[in-house]
Amino acid sequence: MAEDLIGFIGVGNMGLPMAANLVAAGRELVVHDVRAAAVRLLGNKVRIAASPAEVASLAETVLVSLPRPEIVQEVVFGANGIASGAKRKIFVDLSTTGPRMAQSIAAELKKQGVVALDAPVSGGVAGAKKATLAVMLSGPKAAAERVMPMLAAIGKVFYVGAEPGMGQVMKLINNLLSGTAQAATAEAIVMGVKFGLDPKIMIDVLNAGTGRNTATEAKFPNDILNRRFQGGFALGLMVKDLKLAIETAESLHVPMWVGEAVKQLWLQAEGQGGPDQDSTELIKQLEAWSGVTVKG
Ligand code: NAD
Repeated sequence: MAEDLIGFIGVGNMGLPMAANLVAAGRELVVHDVRAAAVRLLGNKVRIAASPAEVASLAETVLVSLPRPEIVQEVVFGANGIASGAKRKIFVDLSTTGPRMAQSIAAELKKQGVVALDAPVSGGVAGAKKATLAVMLSGPKAAAERVMPMLAAIGKVFYVGAEPGMGQVMKLINNLLSGTAQAATAEAIVMGVKFGLDPKIMIDVLNAGTGRNTATEAKFPNDILNRRFQGGFALGLMVKDLKLAIETAESLHVPMWVGEAVKQLWLQAEGQGGPDQDSTELIKQLEAWSGVTVKG
């Protein structure tokens, strides 16, 4: 029934598997993406809409998984945006857009009778496929409770607070730590390789010891040691998240010495290899500086 339709906009690396899991859980979706080919990957299991406004004229609840804050802003308030849809009641942002954007979108949508919820996710493409994402939900409780059963189809839902932006700050904290762990692990492994240690053995040791983190457990074994570099998280998106994290810290007058250094390293890698390279390719910069390759 049309009343039960869920809107979904942005079926990229994360959105596609999340949408597929919603369909697998029995939800009916109406989907839009600027790349028509991306929507077609969902086959004939979903309805296709030509614009965000069309999605929001068919569905009361509209989820988005879009790359950047300014794109989310455009998709919500631009010409043929969600805000101009006839049916929209609840807007759920699965993207990482930062608290400032979440707060301003929530305030503007509230004036139009729409509740905005933050629901950024962590767990990568692998977690999205397995429906094991950590979903960081925030916003008015009644609306949050309404979407929780649906979001359970993509992962584990944590209600982190009633204010817009709380879910976003939680997500920035997560990615600050994840980006820091990856940068520090890359530096350490490059040093070990330069001394003559075997990278595979180093990763095995770290995973049995206290140096263990998400880079040693997943990124190095799955994408770096085998030189696959297909984690599915663009390096430019990690830079965006680190910038948003530092900007948030600054707005709160919280010093962030380590975070700032980590951001600079990622920025440098973005300048060298471009924003579209996979985030697991960060190590290539460190390898080049030291004249080694981490392979195993
Ligand atoms: P992506 O670039 O793979 O997907 C974004 C999708 O949005 C694409 O299909 C693109 O065509 C579509 N799109 C862009 N502009 C649009 C518009 N104006 N209207 C409709 N569709 C539009 O990005 P992703 O990796 O799936 O990430 C999406 C969000 O999730 C980002 O905010 C990212 O930071 C966050 N995130 C990503 C990962 C990951 O591992 N990839 C993990 C957690 C969170």
